[in-house]
Formats: sequence, structure tokens, C-alpha cells
Amino acid sequence: MNIEDWLNKHGIDYRQRGAWFQVHCPNCADDKYHGGIHSDNLTYTCFRCGKLPFRQTLEAICLNDPVAVLDLYHVSKKETYYDYTSREPMNQTVRLPINTEEITEKHKKYLRNRGFNPELIACLWKVKGTTDSSDYPWRLVIPVIYRRQTISWTARTVVNHPLRYANCPEEWEVGSIKDALYSYDMVQRDTIMVVEGATDAWRIGPGAVATMGATITDRQVSLIGAKKTRYIVLDPDARDKAEKLRDRLRMFSGRTMIIDIDEKDPALLKNEDINSLRRLLDR
Ligand SMILES: [Zn+2]
Repeated sequence: MNIEDWLNKHGIDYRQRGAWFQVHCPNCADDKYHGGIHSDNLTYTCFRCGKLPFRQTLEAICLNDPVAVLDLYHVSKKETYYDYTSREPMNQTVRLPINTEEITEKHKKYLRNRGFNPELIACLWKVKGTTDSSDYPWRLVIPVIYRRQTISWTARTVVNHPLRYANCPEEWEVGSIKDALYSYDMVQRDTIMVVEGATDAWRIGPGAVATMGATITDRQVSLIGAKKTRYIVLDPDARDKAEKLRDRLRMFSGRTMIIDIDEKDPALLKNEDINSLRRLLDR
């Protein structure tokens, strides 16, 4: 999806001048098309405000409409367009915690406090929630969807329970988390970014996959190796592990790069760092 498709699909008022798509700037609330989106560089520059962060500004233009925000993940110079929203799981035979429902205000507040857009998390990653009427009370239920099937889940507490993540009991699973990669279905091109946890993958967006735990199985290595361009984004204290993974990927064609990050956890990265990681995935 290119920028013109995105503006048209979401009914955003613009004028076009060559490669520039001019819109009402959400930052200075102008009504004269002062904001300029450059369709080749994917940058945003306002006549009054100057250069502003591309993604956040466009999110503000569409007023955080989750589908429009979601579609921003597909905005690129390239024409390739993949509609993730159509990728509903084919079946749900995995057993979920009792009373797994849509996320409530309490779950949304937890997500907002961690810097996530709750609507986006629910819509894109199919995250659900539980309340006190569950065998896993007050958790985000994070499905592991692989080849369009929910094979397992993990459940993150939203109330400071000492067990932060509760994993799906083995006998409830359709397949092991360790035979798949979290968010692998959303890798749209031949570029993949490997992170450790599901929330790291949410932060970076489609194209990032999580190994879900410290050990990386041979099956996971071959799934990663099937992609030609591979980035490893692990915590700084896991440098050894990143190098070991890169060594294990040497038998596959393509290339593997380790990205060093300053934060102790990719989920804590600043927006500008996240944007540069996303740009690597868009290449
Ligand atoms: Zn402006």
C-alpha cells in the first residue's frame, strides 16, 4: 500500500503536488494543507512545524483509528500490499483460560501505561483478556497463531501477580510455542527481525517475531533461516545468545545481522529507535 492508497482508503483530505501529498497538519491544526508527506522518502514536513516523526504524525492525522493505524504498517514505496486483518485464525481448538473475552478498560489501561495502543494490540495480535471470573484471572491472553491457527497462548498479568507470564498447559496446546515463532504469519517479505518476547514484537510491529523464551529450538532456527534478510534484536545482556543464533543461521543462504540496542529490553525503546528498526523491515 502506498501513501496515496492509505489516504484514499481512510478518507483523509489531501492535495497532491508531484511526490508531495499535502494534508492538514495535526500538530498545528492548520486548515491550509501545511503538512507535506513525501511519497518516496516517507517523511513528514510541515510548512510551519518543520520535520515531524512520520508514523506518529500520520497516526494523529487518522485520530488513532485502529484500522488506519494498522494500515500504516503497510505504507511503503513498494506496491506490495498484504491485508493482515483478513488473517483470522482458521480454528480455535486450543483451550483458552475460562471466560477469555474482549479486553476491558483495565487491560487497556495496562497497555496504555506500557505505551501500546490497546485497540491495535487487540485488532492486530488478537489479544484477549480475562477478569476475576477465570482460572487465569486478570490477564492478557496472547494467542500464538501459526499458519492461521491458534496453537498455544501465553497470559500476561495486568495486576502485578508474581507470575508475570502463565503459559498454556501442554495438554491444552495444539502445537508447541517452540515449534513456531510468535507473529511469524505477519512477516510479509523476506526480511525478519527476531526478538525474545511477544511485547517486543508488538513494539516493532509486523515483521518482528518472538522466540517466546530463552532457548531457541532447531525448528525456530529453520523458520528464521527461511527468510533472506535476518536481524537479531535481543537484550544487550544476551549478546552471546545473539551471536550463537547468528552462527546457527550460517547454514542458510542470505544474511544475518545483530542489532545492538541500548535499552535493556526492546519493549522500552524510544519511538525514533523503533522507527529506524521498522525502516529496516520495510526495505
Ligand atoms: Zn504543522
